[in-house]
Amino acid sequence: MTEIPARIRNFIDGQFLEPIGSKYLDNIEPATGKPYSQVPDSDTRDVDLAVAAAEKAFHDWSNKPAAERSRFLLRIADLIERDLEKFSRAESIDTGKPISLARTLDIPRAVANFRFFATAILHTESEAHITDNVAFNYTLRQPRGIAGLISPWNLPLYLLSWKIAPAIAVGNTAIAKPSELTPMTAYMLCEIAREAGLPNGVLNVVHGTGPNVGAAITAHPKINTISFTGGTVTGRKVAEACAPLFKKVSLELGGKNPNIIFADADLDTAIAGSVRSSFANQGQVCLCGSRVFVERSAYKDFVDRFIDKASQLKIGDPLDEKTDQGAIVNKTQLDKIKFYVDLAQKEGGKITLGGSPSRPPNERCREGYFFPPTVITGLLVSCRTNREEIFGPVVTITPFDNEEEVIAYANDCDYGLASSVWTQNLSRAHRVAEQINTGTVWVNCWLLRDLRVPFGGMKQSGVGREGGEEALRFFTEPKNVCIAK
Ligand code: NAP
Repeated sequence: MTEIPARIRNFIDGQFLEPIGSKYLDNIEPATGKPYSQVPDSDTRDVDLAVAAAEKAFHDWSNKPAAERSRFLLRIADLIERDLEKFSRAESIDTGKPISLARTLDIPRAVANFRFFATAILHTESEAHITDNVAFNYTLRQPRGIAGLISPWNLPLYLLSWKIAPAIAVGNTAIAKPSELTPMTAYMLCEIAREAGLPNGVLNVVHGTGPNVGAAITAHPKINTISFTGGTVTGRKVAEACAPLFKKVSLELGGKNPNIIFADADLDTAIAGSVRSSFANQGQVCLCGSRVFVERSAYKDFVDRFIDKASQLKIGDPLDEKTDQGAIVNKTQLDKIKFYVDLAQKEGGKITLGGSPSRPPNERCREGYFFPPTVITGLLVSCRTNREEIFGPVVTITPFDNEEEVIAYANDCDYGLASSVWTQNLSRAHRVAEQINTGTVWVNCWLLRDLRVPFGGMKQSGVGREGGEEALRFFTEPKNVCIAK
């Protein structure tokens, strides 16, 4: 595999191709604010080419035995694992995340995604329904055709592989569009796919912007399945584009996740878990707990210790092994964070930690985008800061008096992606989990994932579920065959 290239290309029909319009965009390294490579600024013509390749590949790929498809995916997983260091470095440069996080979370999880779906397709059950003495029904679950897979910049390889692996495992061919802000690991994945011998046209990656490439994928009449992960505003546009064409759509969208700490929690664990859930990847994980609620009797102790721990996080060059907090993905995102911190102050909030851009950690990062862990207290639950997704290292902490009140606080939000509850009272854990309107409720943990469980959001956090059996079903079409006796 090559080292990080100065210019990446689309991957269509097993070939690395220049975009038809020959246009490129600079790929900026968030830690330095400077371009470090170029990414194709593709358009509809490149998507059309990818569709032709995916269409051509579909028949052979979908007719391969599951065990054979499985072997390709396992080979891809092994090769990513072999190149763990190169992938981690590329991901860190591309996104600004600490290299240690890329190495321990993003890249291993991408490997796990390929392994999981490679073996999942070998262990599925088939359904049959006997209708008295009259008929025998069985359900064929067939691949749907070409899947369009659109992903965001925060966990680029992890989220793209979460879509690619199930889509192709069950026999679809795929056209993927990574965020043009973070395209590097998707490019490297294509090199791996080629090395693994994945048949041409099974996986195609078209780089470029959302309005050009993303919209061309969602509007294309031959792409009948769309799996999208990104912001709620974009998700709405994707839904609007897909509805008139009756496409099957999964939308994994934004979050404003509550993190609830009861006074009976093991506070050491809850504080460590909460610091992680607040600031991992500079708060740029859709599952980050950005609204922290603490039972009043433990509030002061929690806030003091939380701030103490958060202030020890080392902000640094993402490529430095000791860095806990890397760079924000781009200037737009940095400005958005600043906007919300100002808004929080106008809304009466008190900045108890952080609050303004950090000094660059070294000369190399002089023009990078850095913002420190920021804690805001004293806000009303109903204010904008507490309702809108910031997607940065900014949390609010609010006291509550009882279970009923905190459940109302948690649910008083348009989003419903994930939540965490910290308590040693088992009955309370079950009671609260049942009443919070989020797709995932973690109890005494955060980001603990089992790939078999359904994953997705409620309310404006999305429609549909990914993960395990849900993903295998999403990417297939159930067909009932009814045979009269
Ligand atoms: P975004 O702006 O919505 O972009 C997501 C993807 O959609 C990108 O590849 C983007 O391309 C593309 N896109 C933009 N406009 C499009 C259009 N009209 N049609 C089709 N595709 C289009 O989101 P982001 O800023 O990259 O990511 C952050 C958001 O993702 C946050 O809201 C976060 O909560 C959410 N997220 C959700 C999950 C989850 O599992 N629920 C996981 C991770 C992130 P460009 O890059 O060119 O804009």
